[in-house]
Amino acid sequence: MPDCIFCKIISGEIPSAKVYEDDVVIAFLDIHPITQGHTLVMPKTHHADLLEVPQDVLQAAVARIPKIARAVMAGVGATSFNVGVNSGKASGQIIFHLHFHIIPRGGRDDNLKPWGSREYQTGQIEEIAEKIRQKFSNS
Ligand code: AMP
Ligand code: ZN
Repeated sequence: MPDCIFCKIISGEIPSAKVYEDDVVIAFLDIHPITQGHTLVMPKTHHADLLEVPQDVLQAAVARIPKIARAVMAGVGATSFNVGVNSGKASGQIIFHLHFHIIPRGGRDDNLKPWGSREYQTGQIEEIAEKIRQKFSNS
């Protein structure tokens, strides 16, 4: 087993505030919540991130998210939720065992601000779209 804190939680070596578990995924509360009830959902098998995980594991894990999110929202009195996946260091990923953040929204403690947005300069949106499209044809 890699030296991975989430694998240690999955094996029971490290305690967690577990809310759900089945044959594919485990879900437990994030110890530094963005809002109350912030939950981490992850496959029980170790895969570093979204680019490394086999498709069948990813599909099975994602398929569990609505059921877990409904319980999380109901449990904390939220009306909505965000799902987030950090992929890579620059994105903020600090634990390299793929996990989905379920962040309840619309509850009493929700004072989160939107990320903010920018404007494209003239012609820039098409230029960037074309660069990305070329990467599909090259691969
Ligand atoms: P990420 O930045 O996407 O890698 O998210 C890792 C998350 O794991 C952070 O939000 C941490 O607060 C959370 N975390 C770290 N250690 C633990 C732990 N022992 N139990 C629960 N959550 C944890
Ligand atoms: Zn792991």
